[in-house]
Amino acid sequence: MRLVLTGSGASRGMALGRARLQQPSRYLVDERPLPADEVEAEVERLKRAIEIARDELAALRDKLHGSMAREVAEFIDAHSLMLADRELTSGIYELVRQGRYRASAALKLQRDRLVAVFEAMDDPYLRSRKEDIEHVIARVQAGLLREASSEERKLAARVGEILVSDSVAPAELVPLAEHGVLGVVQTAGSRVSHGAILARSLHLPMVVAAHDALGAIQDDDLVLIDGEAGEVIVHPAAPDLARYRAWQRDSLQRSKQLALLADRDTRTRDGVAIALYANAESATDIALARASGAAGIGLYRTEFLFMQRREPPSEDEQFQAYCDVVLGMGGLPVTIRTLDLGADKADASGLTLDDEDNPALGVRGVRLSLRHPQLMRTQLRAILRASAFGPVRVLVPMVCAAEEMSQMRVLLRDCARDLRSAGHEIADNVELGAMIEVPAAAIALPSMIRKLDFVAIGTNDLVQYTLAIDRNNDHLADLYDPLHPAVLRLLAQTITTAQRAGKRVSLCGEMAGDRRYTALLLALGLTDFSMHPGVLLEVRELIATLDRGELRKHTAALLRAPTRERIERVITRMHAP
Ligand code: PEP
Ligand code: MG
Repeated sequence: MRLVLTGSGASRGMALGRARLQQPSRYLVDERPLPADEVEAEVERLKRAIEIARDELAALRDKLHGSMAREVAEFIDAHSLMLADRELTSGIYELVRQGRYRASAALKLQRDRLVAVFEAMDDPYLRSRKEDIEHVIARVQAGLLREASSEERKLAARVGEILVSDSVAPAELVPLAEHGVLGVVQTAGSRVSHGAILARSLHLPMVVAAHDALGAIQDDDLVLIDGEAGEVIVHPAAPDLARYRAWQRDSLQRSKQLALLADRDTRTRDGVAIALYANAESATDIALARASGAAGIGLYRTEFLFMQRREPPSEDEQFQAYCDVVLGMGGLPVTIRTLDLGADKADASGLTLDDEDNPALGVRGVRLSLRHPQLMRTQLRAILRASAFGPVRVLVPMVCAAEEMSQMRVLLRDCARDLRSAGHEIADNVELGAMIEVPAAAIALPSMIRKLDFVAIGTNDLVQYTLAIDRNNDHLADLYDPLHPAVLRLLAQTITTAQRAGKRVSLCGEMAGDRRYTALLLALGLTDFSMHPGVLLEVRELIATLDRGELRKHTAALLRAPTRERIERVITRMHAP
């Protein structure tokens, strides 16, 4: 019987698949570091898997016949050559030996790195070769699974499924997406939760706050989800499937149309240049940022490198990751945020406290970093070393007081001095900026701005802390409101204070990529936006239709409006032709 459940759309796109009711944490790829005495056995496992993959390719080649045999054989030969490539395989073995990655995690990392390199290539043919990398690595992963644990095998069988769960932790989403899960339905959560942000980054359609989902859906039910409308259709009927097919057609068409804007400047109708930066969590984001013509990376969230592991990543490992981002952006500025663990971004290494009554108000972001100066030094050294390869800025999360920035400045300066005296090449000047995401920082900004090189507004948290509404609490989702007059005033003050002091100010919360707020933010004077790269072209397209001069005439009315309703009315007037 067809049944429609409603929730909130958290990550756009539609997905059709079989439901799997789960707590997914049991199916994670094991990303814990490998004990030293298991390293060689793991390398042997990899060698065997590569052998299996090679034999399979050879067997496949032998079976070829018919008119396309020669072309197909060329593909197979190319894949076999990759498997024989010392550089590819030794890179993987090195990840196991030096980085202590388990086999499948090493394969995944190597694939991400190579795919990012290919995706950044200008030549469309070379760019398309990334698929070969994906196929080859997938074949080796399959080889590994022959002898893998039943847990991993179960994960591999997730292909084509829609996961239905109460809540999926951000770190759990990556392996799920990589193992072919098509979409996620959560009974809890909100669209500004870190899980939702990551789902958008992984292009994984997601519906949150579908309260009845676990009761109403059975394992193996056919389910259609619409991550934009926030709809879950159980046992979809013919018209639903027709809608799904139409969506597939339209989204292809739309992405072709938007791709035409990729190498254009971002300008308003009256010619004002606007900078659109990308937020990034993964190598795919970097590739997409380049492909969308982003001005740079406005927010690189580093905490995802730290989650799901027992030990924090080493300086070299972090350096490698930051370097990949910097190189991937080919000379465009990259803003690397220092660790923002805590609240809903817990780690497995014991850095975050797990007994806090109010983790969102607890040891989070810079507070946690300053309690672990050695951890911070390691991260800052890695970032500084990456600065030798392209322009890098350091951004500090959850800043509340000027002293925190002074302490970070001292740490950054000390690390730079040590690196230089040890002969490391680093940039002459690496800017240090603060995220303005706590009301205290926004209010006290005039007295702090001198200490900052730049400012990035984090509205996801600024809204949460200004309104005292947990960003993950779906019961308060209707009150979590970026259009609250208090939020608008803090935004306007922050933008004006920074601009008057001659400091760059960007906005990197989810609001920046939400077209409902583009005109409003331009009216408040914002010129630098940082958003998920998947929405960048749509925002560029919209900005071209807006007249900044005209919008600025509404600023005073926006800031005077006493209610959300009145603010919305002003926004509607701003959009009127
Ligand atoms: C924000 O708070 O707006 C932000 C960009 O940071 P995060 O979502 O990672 O907390
Ligand atoms: Mg934040």
